Amino acid sequence: MGTFKAIVIDKTDTGQSVGFREFDEADLMEGDVTVRVSHSTLNYKDGLALTGMAPVVRRFPMIPGVDLVGTVEASSNPEFKAGDPVILNGWGLGETHLGAYAEKVRVKGDWLIPRPEGISPEQAMAIGTAGYTAMLCLMALERHGLKPDRGPASVTGAVGGVGSVAVALLAKAGWHVIASTGRPEEADYLKGLGAAEILERSELTGPVRPLGKERWAAGVDTVGSATLANLLSMTRYGGAIATCGLAGGMDLPASVAPFILRNVALLGVDSVMAPKALRIEAWDRLVRELDHAKLAAMTSTIPLDRVMEAGQEIVAGRIKGRVVVEIG
Ligand code: NDP
Repeated sequence: MGTFKAIVIDKTDTGQSVGFREFDEADLMEGDVTVRVSHSTLNYKDGLALTGMAPVVRRFPMIPGVDLVGTVEASSNPEFKAGDPVILNGWGLGETHLGAYAEKVRVKGDWLIPRPEGISPEQAMAIGTAGYTAMLCLMALERHGLKPDRGPASVTGAVGGVGSVAVALLAKAGWHVIASTGRPEEADYLKGLGAAEILERSELTGPVRPLGKERWAAGVDTVGSATLANLLSMTRYGGAIATCGLAGGMDLPASVAPFILRNVALLGVDSVMAPKALRIEAWDRLVRELDHAKLAAMTSTIPLDRVMEAGQEIVAGRIKGRVVVEIG
């Protein structure tokens, strides 16, 4: 066994330290599959882990990084063999299990899904947890019976990772997409992804009325707090909001009025512990439904040694779209 390059978070007296280190393969955690990582990505949660802004990391030392794509190097799991191309999203990677900002991981085979045919490793990580979560949100709205003929769909935090993919997916599915952003200068970017209208973030961050004007039948919320409360109050009769994020706060200063007077539903979406069958369905749909040119337009690529700086940027709300991290 040798060593490999990794970003490692250590606990210190004053908080945490983050840096590059040669990591000993013997110190990898339990698992029946070893994967050589080629790419990872940067999600909001990775930013929280890298900056220590929220207690995402629950074991030290930790290698952060919640997403990876790579090739199986060794496996005692009957579902995988050396050479198989695989993807891993979540399951505690980078939180409780040594994660993806490393040349190697050892994980449970049950956490892996085969990389679908039709997408490259770079495209898989351009999608990443953010894109896969955006698809889970669309699937939740559809399971609720919502279709584009019911009215517009809103997306909050639209210039961010989940938001950008959600705009593209909803537009492709035929929705009239209203994209809410604090960066109105990115209107052309959002329209290029398929947004029909741009809504200033400030229209959703003000005081929450129990019921507002009915503006959309569906929504994908990545922001939480007053934004989600306002989104609910402006949802049409029988509509639903899929909620997955907290970029604006974890609270929800809402009233019950939209639920009991307009039959509005709030649909919770979690990607980390989602069952395998749902993941495979989401990834299959992403390959078929996410326009490759739009994915390329929302993606930038950085080397692993820039990820600490990029982590600061994402928690400050300054990252546009998706960031692929090159590793292997
Ligand atoms: P990004 O940072 O890429 O996007 C978040 C966006 O939210 C920003 O780009 C910005 O959009 C908006 N925003 C940021 N701060 C504020 C604020 N204070 N008030 C209002 N809007 C704000 O992050 P991701 O897309 O990776 O993740 C979005 C959220 O979804 C995060 O909270 C993340 O933890 C969560 N998430 C949850 C998952 C799950 O399984 N439930 C999986 C993946 C992500 P703009 O500039 O357009 O206004």
